[in-house]
Amino acid sequence: MNKVVYLKSGRERSVHHRHPWIFRGAVSRLEGQPENGEVVEVRDSKGEFLAYSAYSHYSSICLRNLTYTKEIYPDRDWIYDRVVKACQLRKAADIDRETNSWRLLFGEADGLPGVIADRYGDAVILQLSTTWADQNKADIAAAITEVYNVSGIYERSDSDIRRLEGLGIASGPITGKVPADQMILTEYDRKYQVNLFSGQKSGFYLDQRVNREKIKKYVSQRRVLNCFSYTGGFTVPALQAGADEVTSVDISEDAVLAVQENVRLNHLDISRSHVVCGDVFSYLRLMRDKGEKYDLIILDPPKFAPTVAQLEKASRGYKDINLLAIKLLNPGGILVTFSCSGGVDAALFQKIVSDAALDAQANVSILETLRQAADHPVSLCFPESSYLKGLICYKIE
Ligand code: SAH
Repeated sequence: MNKVVYLKSGRERSVHHRHPWIFRGAVSRLEGQPENGEVVEVRDSKGEFLAYSAYSHYSSICLRNLTYTKEIYPDRDWIYDRVVKACQLRKAADIDRETNSWRLLFGEADGLPGVIADRYGDAVILQLSTTWADQNKADIAAAITEVYNVSGIYERSDSDIRRLEGLGIASGPITGKVPADQMILTEYDRKYQVNLFSGQKSGFYLDQRVNREKIKKYVSQRRVLNCFSYTGGFTVPALQAGADEVTSVDISEDAVLAVQENVRLNHLDISRSHVVCGDVFSYLRLMRDKGEKYDLIILDPPKFAPTVAQLEKASRGYKDINLLAIKLLNPGGILVTFSCSGGVDAALFQKIVSDAALDAQANVSILETLRQAADHPVSLCFPESSYLKGLICYKIE
């Protein structure tokens, strides 16, 4: 018998809209105390079935909905079906023509709360962030192995979100061959060396793939500043497309060293690639004080606002770097600016950049709006899955 969770009157609406999260405040009572990670039945205040949902003791999101049909219980076969559907979506988007490495499963957006699976060549890095996902690890791994031709699945569950779920860090092989730490990722006509075990995220920022391609048309014969460069994701296409020079700035020493490796790997002119290990905020100020000017500046910072609570501080951070960057641009220059903070939506981000332009006394127009690549799909029921926002702006004067 499933344990049952009843919602307060009126709180069933988001479940009817198939939003995957239910917060603790929406719950009126529990029938039986569910275990952490256990699948429960969620009912409205009148006792009507709403969803099968994974229960969490610790998180403020105490229920993560799995299925919305009484007859469809989220078992092993259902997990397999989710993995198949996720695979079909990516086939429809032709992802494997762009790269040998992409996101196979994107958590709630693919119907599997807390499950991130990234494919790197024939290896998969799995990152689990909910107790339900942890408990179903074997079935998830088996489904991935069956659906894709992969040699091994390795776990790197090290995200901060796990702490909110009362989970520790977990890493190590799950099934198949243990992948080599280093692999060569291909993306369009570029290659990157990736460290699967020690790199940031699951090794690489797969979500920026299409945007790295998009900047190519703006860089020819330009002086480019790539801020928050990591291992040179944007540096490589900029040099490929004929930038005069690219300066890559990142606070991680390993990352900036890897920039030059990746420039060499792509047989590009290393003398055009400069790297700086340091804080972007200070570097931009230093360049302003020195009177340096650039033709194209990329700002791809880490998440300043993981949650809405840090929104104000994050907004200041975004405004600061965008203001400095706009000032450093020559007239006719291009700003490629991103936010990957879930708490900052597209409208707010545009407002922040607009305020920055105003303070910089610059006349700036948007040429293109950018988003995460299609292997990080945005579920219409789950707007939170749209996290990466980008603008390509033109500085008129
Ligand atoms: N554009 C990259 C991904 C950037 S991720 C790509 O395409 O691969 C964000 C990067 O910002 C990380 O590499 C992190 O090391 C770096 N970072 C974080 N805070 C920083 C700071 N204050 N100054 C410089 N780099 C920072």
